[in-house]
Formats: sequence, C-alpha cells, structure tokens
Amino acid sequence: MEQTYIMIKPDAVQRGLMGEIISRIEKRGLKIAAMRLGVMSEESAKEHYEEHVERPFFASLIEYVTSGPSVSLVVEGKNAIAIMRAVNGATNPVDALPGTIRGDFAVETGRNVVHASDSTESAQREIAIHFKDSEIVNYTKIDEVCLYE
Ligand code: GDP
Ligand code: MG
Repeated sequence: MEQTYIMIKPDAVQRGLMGEIISRIEKRGLKIAAMRLGVMSEESAKEHYEEHVERPFFASLIEYVTSGPSVSLVVEGKNAIAIMRAVNGATNPVDALPGTIRGDFAVETGRNVVHASDSTESAQREIAIHFKDSEIVNYTKIDEVCLYE
C-alpha cells in the first residue's frame, strides 16, 4: 500500500469544494489515513515547495497556499500516488481533462485547487512535513475486500 500527501488548497476551501474533493477520493476507493483543516505556515509552505524556490511564481505560490485554510490529507491505497495525480489532472487546468478535479473546477495554474505528491520520495517527504506519525491512523476499511483482488 502507498501513502500520498494531498492538499485541498485555500481556493477550494473558499469555494465550498472540500466535500466534493474528499468524496471523489473516497469513491475512487482510496482511504483517508489523516486529515486536518488549518492555515499552512509560511515555513511549511516553503519547505513543501522547495523544489520551486528559483521559479518566478514561487512568492505568489507561497502567498496562495498560506492565504487561508487548506485541508491536508494522507491518502492511502494501492498505487495511491499515481491514482491521485490522475484524479487531480494536469497542473495547468487548460490541459486537465473533464472528469478530473482540475478539469472540472479550475481555470488557471495559479488557482488549481489541489495538490498531490508526484513520487514515492515526494510523498514521504511531504507527509513528514505536514503530519506527525501519531496523526496518521492505521485502520482497515470494509470495502478493501471488494476493491482488491
Ligand atoms: P503540481 O505538482 O501539478 O501541483 O505542479 P508543479 O509541481 O509543477 O507546481 C506546483 C504548483 O505551483 C502548481 O500546482 C501551481 O499551484 C503552481 N504553479 C506551477 N506553475 C505555475 C505558473 O507558471 N504560474 C503560477 N502562478 N503558479 C504555478
Ligand atoms: Mg508538484
């Protein structure tokens, strides 16, 4: 089983999309192992997006993700990392297919509603930034009997 870090970004919270996004994750068959609403600190945001520190949009990106409450989740399941990248859709909503979160709810890259880790290494790094081990819940869900071969 894989774990991935998901952020429901502040624009999605303001637009009342939390439930819709969480519902899509649950319906896909992935399990929520941790979840928290809060305003991300500038320090955590800068660490989270450290790969983009030299990019021209870095300052506005940090301002965006710390501008209000967001939801942090650890989402778990077989191939959870790749599945959540596909569920979210392309970074630029112009390229995101209908049926993806960004393809259904976003217009431009700078307000693209959601984040998902892009690799095993990123997932481990990002989960460790946003959650303590004690906040991640290990439990069995009854639907796993049907979801997995
Ligand atoms: P992601 O992994 O699909 O979220 O995309 P990236 O890792 O490439 O970029 C991280 C985040 O930075 C994106 O989700 C956007 O919120 C933001 N971002 C990326 N490229 C741009 C850009 O060209 N302009 C602006 N304003 N934001 C960007
Ligand atoms: Mg990324």
